[in-house]
Amino acid sequence: MAKKTVRDIDVAGKRVLVRVDFNVPLKEGRVAEDARLKAALPTIRYLCEQGARVILVSHLGRPKGVPVDELRLDPVAVRLGELLQRPVHKVDACTGPAVEAAVAALGPGDVLLLENIRFHPGEEKNDPELARQLAALCDIYVNDAFGTVHRAHASVVGVAALRPAVAGFLLERELEVLGKLLSAPEHPFVVVIGGAKISDKIGVLENLLARVEAMLVGGGMANTFLAAQGHDMGLSLVETDKLEVAANLLARAAGQGCRLVLPVDLVVAESQVPGAVHRVVPVNAVPGGWMALDIGPETVKLFAAELARARTVFWNGPLGYFEQPPFDAGTVAVARALPVATATTVVGGGDTVRAVKRAGIADKITHVSTGGGASLKLLEGKELPGVTVLQEKEEG
Ligand code: ADP
Ligand code: MG
Repeated sequence: MAKKTVRDIDVAGKRVLVRVDFNVPLKEGRVAEDARLKAALPTIRYLCEQGARVILVSHLGRPKGVPVDELRLDPVAVRLGELLQRPVHKVDACTGPAVEAAVAALGPGDVLLLENIRFHPGEEKNDPELARQLAALCDIYVNDAFGTVHRAHASVVGVAALRPAVAGFLLERELEVLGKLLSAPEHPFVVVIGGAKISDKIGVLENLLARVEAMLVGGGMANTFLAAQGHDMGLSLVETDKLEVAANLLARAAGQGCRLVLPVDLVVAESQVPGAVHRVVPVNAVPGGWMALDIGPETVKLFAAELARARTVFWNGPLGYFEQPPFDAGTVAVARALPVATATTVVGGGDTVRAVKRAGIADKITHVSTGGGASLKLLEGKELPGVTVLQEKEEG
């Protein structure tokens, strides 16, 4: 069911705590990549325009419950201020007297950024005391951090349960687009799935098998399927404890009329080091001592033909060791074959998003999800605790 959003609740003059995902890369004291800040702007701007007193809370990196100077959010406040074109006040804590004073000083339309919430040991434990302290700062809670909703943390779930809690615009759109992939996708629906391991994605593969016409599998995880079919994969990354899982998925796909399309050729190399000798071989001819690091050109053609027919495409996981050219070629070629003009195209996953950006097609894609783990959890059909806790829209 749809969740209430900031539009469904009166925020004027209210203290509104917004959980955002400002987990951005920093470099030399500056924000190196600000896409996540930009993604939160519509909600922040709307709240400012409505006269809310806006309090932002985010994590950055993995400080594991203690303050780490390199992970302070000061550079984020600076960049956010530039993007919003209004001052963003920053405090060096998330709770305590200094924070309470800064909140009390906020006027309508003002914006305050709290310190990295993961400096607090209670965040990842969903500590009720931390949740209570955060709730004391605000009248209303807003979640606009899709990338965190699969985590039952204090700033995601604990505090949300203590205040009227609604979604921001970014979260609303993520739930709408990804939810429709499960509830009402236009067919043919084709999924492209890659990345290193099957084990990360078994749930998604299982849940999507019955819903899609074709599943195009590449990357390290394809090696495990190919090994399950009896191919010798040399030194390739293969999950030997998942061969049975792979064989089962192949059998189930066949039974459910889903074409599970595996690579027919591979780019193999003697090692993963830059400049390693490499060549293209059919999947039944991986030389002993070599490893598969990308899909080959015949596989790209096969995948492109499937994609050309699709009306809906979801892609998660690069199709090779794309960090190291030339092993990005297969991923880039398939990205460029996405039917962006004729289908709804949705991409999720940190590395996958980097890969489509490298292919230069990110701005043509219908929806680039800001949440890797969260998008997979949603497509697995699993509950997202940070979403469950938000208020339902009233019917009619
Ligand atoms: P995402 O971040 O988009 O969810 P994953 O993290 O699941 O994607 O997978 C990306 C990783 O998988 C990358 O580091 C990539 O190098 C690796 N990978 C893909 N194919 C291979 C392969 N054939 N061999 C080794 N690593 C691979
Ligand atoms: Mg990744």
